Amino acid sequence: MCGIVGYVGREAALPFLLEGLSALEYRGYDSAGVALVDQAGIAQVKQAGRLSSLLGVVDSLPGGAHCGIGHTRWATHGAPTDANAHPHTDCHGRVAAVHNGIIENYQPLRRMLQDAGHEFQSETDTEVIPHLLEHYYQGNLWEAVAATARDLDGAYAFLAVAADDPMTMVAVREASPLVIGLSDHGTYVASDLTALVPYTRSALVLDNGEMAIIRADGVEMRDKAGAAVERAPFQIDWNREQASRGGHAHFMRKEIFEQPDAWRATMAGRVAPDGQLAVDELGLTAEDLASVQHVRLVAAGSAYHAGLVAAHLLERLAGLPAAVEVASEFRYRDAALPAGTVVWAISQSGETLDTLAAADLAQRRGLPVWAITNVVGSTLARQADRVALNRAGPEVSVCSTKVYTSQIVLLTLWTLALAAARGQAHPEVAAALASLPPHGEAWLSSPAGVLEEVARRLASAPSVFYVGRGQDYLSALEGQLKFKEITYIHAEAYPAGELKHGTLALIEPGVPVVAVVSNPALVAKTRSNIMEVRARGGFVVGIVADELAEGLADVLDCAIPVPTLAPDVMPILMALPMQLLAYETARQLGVDIDKPRNLAKSVTVE
Ligand code: GLU
Repeated sequence: MCGIVGYVGREAALPFLLEGLSALEYRGYDSAGVALVDQAGIAQVKQAGRLSSLLGVVDSLPGGAHCGIGHTRWATHGAPTDANAHPHTDCHGRVAAVHNGIIENYQPLRRMLQDAGHEFQSETDTEVIPHLLEHYYQGNLWEAVAATARDLDGAYAFLAVAADDPMTMVAVREASPLVIGLSDHGTYVASDLTALVPYTRSALVLDNGEMAIIRADGVEMRDKAGAAVERAPFQIDWNREQASRGGHAHFMRKEIFEQPDAWRATMAGRVAPDGQLAVDELGLTAEDLASVQHVRLVAAGSAYHAGLVAAHLLERLAGLPAAVEVASEFRYRDAALPAGTVVWAISQSGETLDTLAAADLAQRRGLPVWAITNVVGSTLARQADRVALNRAGPEVSVCSTKVYTSQIVLLTLWTLALAAARGQAHPEVAAALASLPPHGEAWLSSPAGVLEEVARRLASAPSVFYVGRGQDYLSALEGQLKFKEITYIHAEAYPAGELKHGTLALIEPGVPVVAVVSNPALVAKTRSNIMEVRARGGFVVGIVADELAEGLADVLDCAIPVPTLAPDVMPILMALPMQLLAYETARQLGVDIDKPRNLAKSVTVE
């Protein structure tokens, strides 16, 4: 998501803070700020907008200070304003903190602190951190940080300084990245190695649940209980460009691997541990939710495919009629929209022109628009009646991966909320959603070895077909889009049962067909369709739920197994192998993966 930097040492801190933030700009941000600490106390500047405009106001800071923290914000709680920019301080400006991620339980904490007399200056979840530090501070910053961290739920990392101890910083990591750089002239902290590479090659990675007490001459690491943690530094052998991709060859690969964390961030604070949903951010009552009669989804590209998955779930889980339309079509036809219709507009950037126009049309017809976007403050976020953010972090690769799957996570949560409002609880689906991140991580830690070999086969094919039934067909649609976007090879998805009504004519010996099979209720039917392909010599690659793999082994040329979860969440998990298959094929073909020809990340034209 955002960028955090910090320095304490013999040099002046400010030049590193500014250069470090600039190295982290690629991660995306909407506001920036720095705080310096010296004997005189804490001084800070922060504002919404680009880092370049912050440079115009840093002259007011004590340039000689040897300790400081900096931040580029990617807003999740509160608009990108000067007041919401980090750092945030306590009531008396004696401690300051920068934070990345989400504090799920910030509302009760904020209420508790306000009741105790603390005054808040921002709308962020972050601001509870400096106030908690003030609450716990008794002359020792790390003890206050440890007590604060014990109160926080969520996925986050933060870095704090105190005026009383101007040569110490304390960092905590809980599921958001943080690395520490060691050198003879001081100690550095950053969200990733990109910022550290010009300054040092010796680094330490903080693991989840750990904190670091950082001084000019090194680092003391502890777990949350306060016990010492020993860790040897490692040598960074990446250049800056490699470091910005976290060592991955392309942003697309990095973003594929970031998905389990993106799903966690999307769900944070929206599903309670007992499976209860919290969609309060929509500002709707249970009666409002129960009054929805019909959902019309509008979107483009991968977001359209996410919409298809949602419509399938809305009908299945909430019994609500739902339809999805490509935004560029919806805006130019006279759609019949029954009373009680709610329009869901989905756009990664929140700037997709066709989706904005479709949302506008719906609003002019008096219908409420609920939007899903990854970019706070985007046009769609401002225009919609209700909005929820993906919180997937910036997606740099043109080809959408983590934003697509996190859209489905969020749409599934909305669907479950609508279902619950109609008296239809689906705790098994909520539980399956919650179990996705570890399953995704497990799969990504050793993706099927056969991928490379399959990619080699697909790379030389003139055309590839994707088939599936039910939600597997919807997964197939996204799989073929990923594939053609970055390999430039023609690909087409078909409902498996529809093959014999046309496409089967194109199946001849050696033609690759990717069969997506995750739903036990439909496996027998899909199996028959696979046999139709095999009978004509087609080469069938199965992307299959592992529990179904054995039963399909005799009809597949090769299989890529995926952990079996409730069928309703499988489109999220099945996306992983399809993304990696497209990626690996494009890599073998030498295509410019992150910037495929003719495509743009944010489509602001018709
Ligand atoms: N949730 C915090 C905010 O909205 C931090 C966001 C970030 O990671 O930049 O301010």
